[in-house]
Amino acid sequence: MGNLVTNVADAATEHPDQTALGFQGDEWSYRDFWGQTGAFASGLAERGFDAGDRVAVYLPNLPQFVVAFHGTLRAGGVVVPMNPQYKSREIEHLLSDSGAEVVVALADLVPFVEEVRDETDVEHVVTVGGEADAGTPFSEFVGDPEFETVERADDDLACLPYTSGTTGQPKGVMLTHENLGSNAEQSASIVPDGIRPGDKQLGVLPLFHIYGMTVVMNATLFGGGAYYPLPSWDAEQAMGLVEEEELTLMHGVPAMYNDVINQERAEEFDLSSLRMCGVGGAGIPVEVLRRFEELYDVQVFEGYGLTETSPVTHFNSPTEGRRVGSIGKVLPGIDARIVDDDFETVPPVERGPVDEDAVDLDDITGELVVTGPNVMKGYYNLPEADEGAFSEHEGKRWFHTGDLGYHDEDGFFYVVDREKHMILTAGYNVYPREVEELLFEHDAVADAAVVGIPDERRGETVKAFVVPVPGSDVTAEEIKQYCLDNLAEYKHPREVEFVEELPRTTTGKVQKFELVERDQGQSGQ
Ligand code: ATP
Repeated sequence: MGNLVTNVADAATEHPDQTALGFQGDEWSYRDFWGQTGAFASGLAERGFDAGDRVAVYLPNLPQFVVAFHGTLRAGGVVVPMNPQYKSREIEHLLSDSGAEVVVALADLVPFVEEVRDETDVEHVVTVGGEADAGTPFSEFVGDPEFETVERADDDLACLPYTSGTTGQPKGVMLTHENLGSNAEQSASIVPDGIRPGDKQLGVLPLFHIYGMTVVMNATLFGGGAYYPLPSWDAEQAMGLVEEEELTLMHGVPAMYNDVINQERAEEFDLSSLRMCGVGGAGIPVEVLRRFEELYDVQVFEGYGLTETSPVTHFNSPTEGRRVGSIGKVLPGIDARIVDDDFETVPPVERGPVDEDAVDLDDITGELVVTGPNVMKGYYNLPEADEGAFSEHEGKRWFHTGDLGYHDEDGFFYVVDREKHMILTAGYNVYPREVEELLFEHDAVADAAVVGIPDERRGETVKAFVVPVPGSDVTAEEIKQYCLDNLAEYKHPREVEFVEELPRTTTGKVQKFELVERDQGQSGQ
């Protein structure tokens, strides 16, 4: 396999005139794009950059991100993607821990780099002028477009993304050329007939996050398709782009699908050019998926993954069948199990998803563990974190995802919740996702999240934060009663709070720790 970027080189040789990137009405052919990555790589080499050196990319989704990513790989370097919402406090650890010598940053973000530069090894800051500058990437940093790509071995590092750090200091995840290459290929294989020239992919999932990087950007460019980056999420603008450019493929996190169906103009979007939609990053409420499919007559396929697995391990398949409510089957070449604390496989149920009122989830649930060519080499400089994340069994190294789930006899897997989100109330386990699914079925609920709030008597108490549909006059009592009518008594939220919106990460995940902290602040604890 070698250097991951040879996949783009192959696409550029086979389809030099096909569009590789489209942005604000401009298009770059594979010939142009490949030349720009060469020019960027040679710019690095001229400044003494060696194989294995790091380039931090601190940009929103712009064509320059794509050029810097593949240009760094061509020079044999390692990409350290940084969330463009981060400020100096947050990037300081990433820059110093990774040892990045070059930072490619949006002009507006350069002051954050300068503020912490002395604490890091940063030697060069390459400024990107913003969207207006999109047509002339890196005018100050160009060299030879014919630059000869540096060879790399399968297990050399290609990318060092950092976890979001919701449970402590962010950890660097060491992803190799083989990790990223195999997963781009595996994720493209889910699309009927693969991704091919003529396909056009919406690029709104952030590129600093592994989902947007592998499944959206790399899988598209390795197949010869066109990638359309969008720097920020705005449902109307994104769906406008799908319509205008007649995009054929789109991926999003559940919050994006929920935003689209809640738009005032939702019924007017014409998304008929799409041949497949994918969703992952968090479980999509079944109601949201059904509503989107009803409105636009296109199926949404759910998958599952983590940064540590480059990311995808499971996907529902358009060709081999799907099961709504499931994360799908394990992808070819990857092995997955549901295990108990002794690493014994928990027996599968006959057919999922199970009726959660009829079974005790604790009896069928275990931890999801995976192994395969996409599983990270390890956490960077953190052997103690590796120890907790991996275990050896039957000659294989298994990665422990920290997610709780079950599987069925047909090979479908189901994620019940994250271990750390499970609520323990008066001796009972409550999986917040089950309560959230029910809330999404209520006509007056636009968005919802359920968390455990510390409680002296019960240990934790179930609390729901609800964003009501605009204009609705639903009360907290009505929501509580609705849950009581439909769930075992111990699972129903004893507290319901209405909020205007939920705090989310840039990748659309509800920041549950923030809801708990907010609640504790309010109650003065
Ligand atoms: P951190 O690990 O720092 O908290 P993070 O949660 O944002 O950051 P990611 O690697 O982006 O890290 O997310 C991986 C997690 O996303 C999985 O462990 C799982 O909990 C969740 N996830 C992804 N896809 C799905 C899905 N289809 N259904 C349910 N959960 C999912």
